[in-house]
Amino acid sequence: MAGAIATTSEIKDITRMERIGAHSHIRGLGLDESLEPRQVSQGMVGQAKARKAAGIILQMIKEGKIAGRAILMAGPPGTGKTAIATGMAQSLGKDIPFTMLAASEIFSLEMSKTEALTQAFRRSIGVRIKEEAEIIEGEVVEIQIDRSVTGGTKQGKLTLKTTDMETIYDLGHKMIDALNKEKVLAGDVITIDKASGKISKLGRSFTRARDYDAMGADTKFVQCPEGELQRRREVVHTVSLHEIDVINSRTQGFLALFSGDTGEIKPEVRDQINTKVTEWREEGKAEIVPGVLFIDEVHMLDIECFSFLNRALEDERAPVVIMASNRGITRIRGTKYESPHGIPLDLLDRLLIISTIPYGQEDIRQILTIRCEEEDVDMSREACDVLTRIGEETSLRYAIHLITAGHLVAKKRRATQVDVSDIKRVYQLFLDEKRSVEFIRQYQKQYMF
Ligand code: ATP
Repeated sequence: MAGAIATTSEIKDITRMERIGAHSHIRGLGLDESLEPRQVSQGMVGQAKARKAAGIILQMIKEGKIAGRAILMAGPPGTGKTAIATGMAQSLGKDIPFTMLAASEIFSLEMSKTEALTQAFRRSIGVRIKEEAEIIEGEVVEIQIDRSVTGGTKQGKLTLKTTDMETIYDLGHKMIDALNKEKVLAGDVITIDKASGKISKLGRSFTRARDYDAMGADTKFVQCPEGELQRRREVVHTVSLHEIDVINSRTQGFLALFSGDTGEIKPEVRDQINTKVTEWREEGKAEIVPGVLFIDEVHMLDIECFSFLNRALEDERAPVVIMASNRGITRIRGTKYESPHGIPLDLLDRLLIISTIPYGQEDIRQILTIRCEEEDVDMSREACDVLTRIGEETSLRYAIHLITAGHLVAKKRRATQVDVSDIKRVYQLFLDEKRSVEFIRQYQKQYMF
């Protein structure tokens, strides 16, 4: 099982990378320790209030205080809603699952809407499984040493930095000898000379363990009590509930994880998995890690999906759901009623709302500069000024697109730097939304009806 898990998480990383190419410059939320946003940091620019709010939510997620809640990121197109969600994902770390989904993906022919949503929910719930494994030769290991002392059992850790199995056992046993001779007490930090086996006591301060690394000592014992050297160690890995579902689904089997074509999963399989995971939890073998499900273009969901969400959020295992929408008041799909962002009022009432606002000139310039660096494009100052103005007058996203296009045009004329003329050229070649609408109006009669 462990092998399959490692491989699937690798695959998940690759798909995530492909999907967020437009946000590849984002490496976090760019906040300082007190969650204050730095103007430009980790690829993030401006949008201070929204980033700070996202940072607070992140903190709550990490502390496990916000499972089952839902957040709405609301703001005009291109104001960084997805970028902020991506920043949150980066800051969460690998152990907490983060799933990104565009609402329109729910409407596929292969499975029902609620099945697709259920899968997305279960992808966003992690199960942290603890297992015991053999120590592999060549690993840097931590060995647990314990032995009962006058009736009680003390536990401690021995950290060995060596690549050789023989040495690991040899040094481990030497330590036990030292313990038996009562030279070493729990909490002592000692070092053993590999050749002579001579033990030197280096104090009782844990922080000093770092100094021994610098000294190049072969071994450091941190908080060592007494006892047996164990051959096994505990490993912890996190898989999503969905991965467990797929692996255990008879119709699909675990190979489906590689193709991504998992089809519908029978409710009986999920019931069995839920029971099993509850058992593991009770036995202390596993923990539930609620992650984050990001649903972009949430106004594309219909009333059935919204009622599913309302119900699913009540579940004790529910992840944090972050939705994003760039719509104002619009019709709730599947009804004739209008509401803010096309979200039913009862669901809207449960949401914490983060709003994003349009960027000013300086923010646009900085984002464009970061994107140029990310795409390895050298652009002249004047060209960047023109592109910034285009960004202000059309949209940030359109201006970002022109970077790559402008670079190609510059390359064609064998220039290494993108110039104003290249930007002008691509501005004429590719229409932004406003000009495209104008163009359609002008030539409407020639289009098909
Ligand atoms: P939409 O409503 O159209 O989906 P959005 O609000 O999700 O838009 P994004 O896709 O996040 O907008 O932003 C458009 C582009 O600008 C992306 O490439 C994004 O990475 C970049 N971007 C937006 N805001 C920032 C920011 N504050 N810092 C750095 N990059 C940003």
